[in-house]
Amino acid sequence: MSALLLDGKALSQHIESDLSQRVAAIKSASGRTPILATILVGDDPASATYVTMKGKACQRVGMDSIRLELPSSTTTEQLLAEINTLNQNPDVHGILLQHPVPEQIDERACFDAIALNKDVDGVTCLGFGRMAMGEAAYGSATPAGIMTLLRHYGIPLAGKHAVVVGRSAILGKPMAMMLLNADCTVTICHSRTQNLPDFIKQADIVVGAVGRPEFIKADWVKDGAVVVDAGYHPGGVGDIELKPLASRVSAWTPVPGGVGPMTIATLMAQTVAAAEAQLI
Ligand code: NAP
Repeated sequence: MSALLLDGKALSQHIESDLSQRVAAIKSASGRTPILATILVGDDPASATYVTMKGKACQRVGMDSIRLELPSSTTTEQLLAEINTLNQNPDVHGILLQHPVPEQIDERACFDAIALNKDVDGVTCLGFGRMAMGEAAYGSATPAGIMTLLRHYGIPLAGKHAVVVGRSAILGKPMAMMLLNADCTVTICHSRTQNLPDFIKQADIVVGAVGRPEFIKADWVKDGAVVVDAGYHPGGVGDIELKPLASRVSAWTPVPGGVGPMTIATLMAQTVAAAEAQLI
């Protein structure tokens, strides 16, 4: 069987080129440039890299970004105050608080302080609830990017059994709700799941969102399944043992070049949509 490569890199480039035109249209209609504000708290090098990548993506599509860097000693109150300032700033159209924040900070309270119309990374409880209910909301960027990728390649979803491994607020849970809204039958697995391989063996679609390198073994995945790997670890591996699968699944996301670029493209797309809503 020749498996379909779900090429997130190519699709994200296509999306960005479309976004560049929308940004140009916003500029000519309003005379203003869309702006994404990013907030990085502490000095985690991986988080700093992600924020830099998001700033560069803004440049590629013609948007500006404001980068706030706060020390690792920042308190919840101080971070809330910064978020409130950005909420009030009419020049800022989207706000991204890079996860994770240092442990003394109440991350949930800070995510939820982001104004709904600027929650372009889809992290607020209100946005999640609206998305889950099928109402308009910006989706959490990584699962929303995965849905865009699956839809672009015409992967059949209705009636399929999707098994999502991981239940984090930014990835596993919203992924499960998005697949459910697309009429999949969804199973969510997590660290307390018993007999995980048995669930994965039943999956038509497997989403790996575990955060452990090649944790999901190739022989747990049935022939012909669709395999989506959200993980990225040093050495260029994801959360799924992908290499042996490429020849016997029906479709798969490479690592790198699958889910990662779609996350950034989705953040850009949602920021452009927020700017359109606020400016024109
Ligand atoms: P996370 O917050 O650490 O969540 C990991 C999830 O995996 C948890 O729900 C955990 O279950 C579950 N888990 C841990 N050990 C397990 C086990 N032995 N069996 C079954 N489930 C287990 O991670 P995350 O933020 O969701 O990220 C997941 C992965 O996606 C990571 O590799 C991360 O790097 C990647 N990621 C990629 C992007 C991107 O843009 N490409 C963005 C975000 C994340 P419990 O809830 O029971 O603890």
